[in-house]
Amino acid sequence: MRKLGASPRFAADRTLGRLARWLRLLGADVFGDPSLNAAQLLYRARAEQRILLTRDKRLRTASDVYYVAGNDFRSQLREVIARFDFDPRATMLTRCSRCNGALRITDRDAVRMRVPPFVYASQDTFAACERCGHIYWNATHPGRIQRELDAVLSGDRRGGGLADPSAEG
Ligand SMILES: [Zn+2]
Repeated sequence: MRKLGASPRFAADRTLGRLARWLRLLGADVFGDPSLNAAQLLYRARAEQRILLTRDKRLRTASDVYYVAGNDFRSQLREVIARFDFDPRATMLTRCSRCNGALRITDRDAVRMRVPPFVYASQDTFAACERCGHIYWNATHPGRIQRELDAVLSGDRRGGGLADPSAEG
């Protein structure tokens, strides 16, 4: 159905915002728009050949819909990764967790005024979201995301102590 090695394309309903942000951090393409109702979101997902991730039981039997059973984002993430068989370690940090835009490696000088001085001084590689411009760098995110991912995949509910990726500056 999808290309080997490509991450699947999803749409997520508004109750799955945290799951959506995590999936994006791990490289999945996840459309979300809180202003759309369930029917509009399903229509949009189908038009864009996305699998709709939902907690809405009424949609459970619809085609192109995956009903997410877990109540917390870690079990939800584990469920989705297992079901859709993508390798988050290969694709993590290729997509903006905030807006779903693609990340591009950016020139270090171009971000100088946009990141804290200690970050600029200590980091060699920066990436910017091509849609919203949010800057990502190597030290804050991968180690912590990796720990959280390890915890999620190993079924450790305590996780890596990362509360919410989108709360990061
Ligand atoms: Zn963005």
